[in-house]
Amino acid sequence: KEILKETSNVAKIKVVVRKRPLNKKEVSRKEDDIVAVHDAVSLSVYEPKLKVDLTAYVEKHEFCFDAVLDENVSNDEVYRETVEPIIPTIFERTKATCFAYGQTGSGKTYTMQPLPLRAAQDMVHLLHQPYYRNQNFKLWLSYFEIYGGKLFDLLCDRRKLLMREDGKQQVCIVGLQEFEVFDVQLVKDYIEKGNAARSTGSTGANEESSRSHAILQLAIKKHRDPTAEVNMRLRKMTDPNDPKNGKLIGKISFIDLAGSERGADTTDNDRQTRIEGAEINKSLLALKECIRALDNDQLHIPFRGSKLTEVLRDSFVGNSRTVMISCISPNANSCEHTLNTLRYADRVK
Ligand code: ADP
Ligand code: MG
Repeated sequence: KEILKETSNVAKIKVVVRKRPLNKKEVSRKEDDIVAVHDAVSLSVYEPKLKVDLTAYVEKHEFCFDAVLDENVSNDEVYRETVEPIIPTIFERTKATCFAYGQTGSGKTYTMQPLPLRAAQDMVHLLHQPYYRNQNFKLWLSYFEIYGGKLFDLLCDRRKLLMREDGKQQVCIVGLQEFEVFDVQLVKDYIEKGNAARSTGSTGANEESSRSHAILQLAIKKHRDPTAEVNMRLRKMTDPNDPKNGKLIGKISFIDLAGSERGADTTDNDRQTRIEGAEINKSLLALKECIRALDNDQLHIPFRGSKLTEVLRDSFVGNSRTVMISCISPNANSCEHTLNTLRYADRVK
């Protein structure tokens, strides 16, 4: 009951901005850091500009968010600010989503990778609490990718997956493998395995993975107690090691989105790149629309706008929590992308 009371206070939508430090290359090129974090909720971007007579000046852009994290904030603090408060809600029938948004190189993967580890740790801990211990809850992990509008299982040899919806608006990804999680080391292994399977194409890993969305899900399911007398008598001895036999209680999805600049690849000379760019553009726009609709408590959520939002359909209806982490680069050369990312985050809010 205590947990219930606590969880109802957690914000439905939270928009957080994280600034990364200048990297070695940017420092050696003597690039300016044009992003100033003022306090826990506000920042300014100083855009370098030229007048018609070519004299330089700076235009200041001010933004406010639920939280702004500067370059000195650790991944641990990011976890505490974003995901930690949501974890108990997963055990109380909530579906949560945590996105990393931003241009390639802004720190999305750096930010997202440790989060499921910490989350799993806390979830395993909660599973062992007296209040939940006797409920036959289990924690399941799955990891897949959306690339060019298609789904691939990252933990099962990139098997192609199809999505289906049941009458109760539950999304089912047919064939998606789920693995039971007992401890954090397992999560680490699955993430490594999945990362190795991400789209690499011919041009190298980072280049191609920036064109796909990676989705890692941690789900709490309730299983029948196979030793309960009533189940034995009714011969309902269902295999507790089969995730399909569990009833979904709640879940959290960690989404490392495609590089936001990739949505602009729609005029590229390469046909494949153009198609992918259009798909990314569509999904990022649809995502923004869905979060806004959620925020306004709209009954109609436009999830059909893209594969990404369709897959997340059940996370956008009913009891949901959304955290958007917008990652930004501080260097002057990234100014345009940084402003685009901040404006996107601003509109989500
Ligand atoms: P993205 O996934 O958005 O393309 P990455 O997460 O791969 O970007 O980050 C690009 C580079 O910057 C990586 O080498 C990463 O280690 C580094 N980096 C990103 N964010 C931070 C940070 N907050 N502190 C230190 N290094 C960072
Ligand atoms: Mg990345």
